[in-house]
Amino acid sequence: MKRGGDVSVERISDLQAAVIGGDTRQVAVAEALANEFKTVKLYGHIAAETPAAVLNTASLIETLSEVRVVVLPISGMNRAGMVRGRKIGEEIDFGSCLNTLSAGTLIVAGSLTPEWLQKCSELRLQTVQYAEDDELAILNSVPTAEGALQIALEEMPITIHGSTVLVLGFGRVGMTVARTFKALGARVKVAARRNDALARAWELGCERIPLEIASPHGMEALNKSVADTDLIINTIPALIIDSALLARIPSGTLIIDLASPPGGTDFEAAKQFHIQAILAPGLPGKVAPQTAGAILVETIPRLIRNSLYGGER
Ligand code: NAP
Repeated sequence: MKRGGDVSVERISDLQAAVIGGDTRQVAVAEALANEFKTVKLYGHIAAETPAAVLNTASLIETLSEVRVVVLPISGMNRAGMVRGRKIGEEIDFGSCLNTLSAGTLIVAGSLTPEWLQKCSELRLQTVQYAEDDELAILNSVPTAEGALQIALEEMPITIHGSTVLVLGFGRVGMTVARTFKALGARVKVAARRNDALARAWELGCERIPLEIASPHGMEALNKSVADTDLIINTIPALIIDSALLARIPSGTLIIDLASPPGGTDFEAAKQFHIQAILAPGLPGKVAPQTAGAILVETIPRLIRNSLYGGER
């Protein structure tokens, strides 16, 4: 999170904010912000879905005029500066409008590429990347784990109860996933590189698979572990399920990859080994849009206040 200052002397109730693109979650965020800001403009959304307190705007330049805060969806903007629109496939060219924003404007996005962060810094725009916020990530891990469960129920020919599930990574998502499948009676194994994470997994009743990536024999435990696993759920945002590991995975095993695209699986190799591997991004918005919207409503206004005023109005 970066701070910097032209706006910090103004009261939030004197400021204008813009919410650009995304889905119904962003509409909920715009409505929440309307309680605090003088004006909230919503761009890239259907007029009929726009809350009464929010201004639905038709031109991006008009939307960005005089705003001091711009909120983007959790996907942020891609390398080309495009923001995901309301309709599938629709994109909004926000990147090319960055230089119309005043210095000190706060861009609140799920994530931004290093190139766009650099560009914002050059234009003296503040940035907040809310996907990395711990509170939001932990709250979002619940619909993410439920989404993984939904896929597993749809795709597996056996019950979760009594099945063997291997969870790769034990951060905010991995922990909730392990807990969720454990609660349904699965035998859950957790592969992680930190001993404290493995200790927590053991405390939850899971089996521990240490990953010592730097060591020549560091993947031995994982290599052995996949042989008797029905479901592998990956949360590690690095290539972990590579062709060497896939060669050891029985063909009836299902892989659900939750890590952000491109995921941690060699999907081409998985096809060649006839292993079903599903990359499942954006689950909170897909399986529980209302809850996911409520999570953003709970966290984004706080992040904006913290960023503008260091936590005080
Ligand atoms: P996190 O809290 O940072 O946890 C990541 C886990 O992966 C940690 O256990 C971390 O280990 C491990 N890890 C990272 N790099 C590794 C590497 N090179 N080798 C081995 N282990 C590594 O992240 P999170 O919030 O759980 O999110 C996990 C992923 O899911 C992210 O890509 C996130 O964007 C994505 N996500 C997806 C959805 C969805 O709907 N599919 C929803 C939310 C999040 P250390 O602790 O040792 O670093």
